[in-house]
Amino acid sequence: MIQAVRGTRDLLPDETPLWREVEAAWRRTTRLFGYREIRVPTFEERALFERSVGEATDIVSKEMYVFEDRGGRSVALRPEGTAGVVRACIERGLLGHRKELLRLWYHGQMFRYERPGKGRYREFTQVGAEAIGSEDPGADAEMVDLALDFLRAAGFEKLRLLLSSIGCSACRPAWRQAVVAHLEPRREELCGDCRDRLLRNPLRVLDCKEEGCGAIVASSPSPADFLCPACRDHLAALRRRLDSLAVPYEMAPRLVRGLDYYTRTVFEVVDEGLGGQNAVFGGGRYDNLVELLGGPPTPAVGFAAGVDRIVLLLRERRGAPPERPDIYVVCLGAEAQAEALGLARELRGHGLSAEVDLLGGGPKAQFKRADRAGARRVLVLGEEELRRSVVALKDMESGQQREIARAQLLAALSAAGGTK
Ligand code: AMP
Repeated sequence: MIQAVRGTRDLLPDETPLWREVEAAWRRTTRLFGYREIRVPTFEERALFERSVGEATDIVSKEMYVFEDRGGRSVALRPEGTAGVVRACIERGLLGHRKELLRLWYHGQMFRYERPGKGRYREFTQVGAEAIGSEDPGADAEMVDLALDFLRAAGFEKLRLLLSSIGCSACRPAWRQAVVAHLEPRREELCGDCRDRLLRNPLRVLDCKEEGCGAIVASSPSPADFLCPACRDHLAALRRRLDSLAVPYEMAPRLVRGLDYYTRTVFEVVDEGLGGQNAVFGGGRYDNLVELLGGPPTPAVGFAAGVDRIVLLLRERRGAPPERPDIYVVCLGAEAQAEALGLARELRGHGLSAEVDLLGGGPKAQFKRADRAGARRVLVLGEEELRRSVVALKDMESGQQREIARAQLLAALSAAGGTK
């Protein structure tokens, strides 16, 4: 038997309603903030991610699904959304000479060859937003506010926001050098991966989840001590904006994020319910990326949230809403079924979801199925009802049953709060 590939999952009908609820919260929130949707391909030229996410990151060097297509092109399944969005904005001329802020959102599958675990899959879904065209700390504040509003709309109550600034190309080298100086003497105590990172991309060590590395990283130099005046001012202004929005946050000097394109602001929301892989969303500023990918110099800020992890936490905390039909139609006999199909159509026309029992059998078997489907009300159509142009209506919660004239049915249902 062929099984789903390791790290991929099927989302069964019991699970998808919660997904849709979260995705609806996302659409609602982005609309309220004035962000517009962009859809970009799920695979791109491999070089796009190498250049943007960074060749020395885990994502590109170890986790990217790369392959040669039949035409000999080297392509990659997207491991994240920002690179494709920025590529599209440049290629499709959205970053014209006009001075305006592009507010965009996306939603879609991402692919990373990671070790599967709780909240960590090889195919997963992200929603993300990008504000392209502003260097102003207000844009960073808006991004954080949007991300938190979304999580609240999705049903989160307590949120722990971590914030830091990793500086710009002017001041980051000094911090990086200080981090290397701190780590180098303890190289032997680092994990194998980190010894390699120390050579190729030392700041990535700060992101390591290994316990031994964590202890060494905890005492490493803070970027705050190395920020140039412009980066320091930017961070201070962002903090003032967040304070005036009453957004609580914690400064997290070791926060680096797993992608190379970030500059200045980085942020993450973590949730202890996830264990080791505890980030619900992450983002930051990427002032050099547009230019790096061949566009005009354009500052930008964005974030991406993992829908799988959000759904997982919500399901653990409050369960998933069951999907139940408003009406289940029990029909006894072929003639009754024909009538039931027409009746169900009429009900749907009035905004009620209606399921007709198509498996037949006696009333007992059909009622059992109605119960299993979680129907709120059941209509019964048998020969007797047909003959007299009535239906029996049973409220499954109260157990009460009454007979209603066929012509009065819609009125009776709406009186009971049934039609919308
Ligand atoms: P990143 O693009 O690495 O900043 O990730 C942004 C968000 O995507 C994270 O905070 C997670 O919620 C989610 N995410 C990243 N990798 C995975 C994965 N392998 N499986 C599920 N969710 C993920």
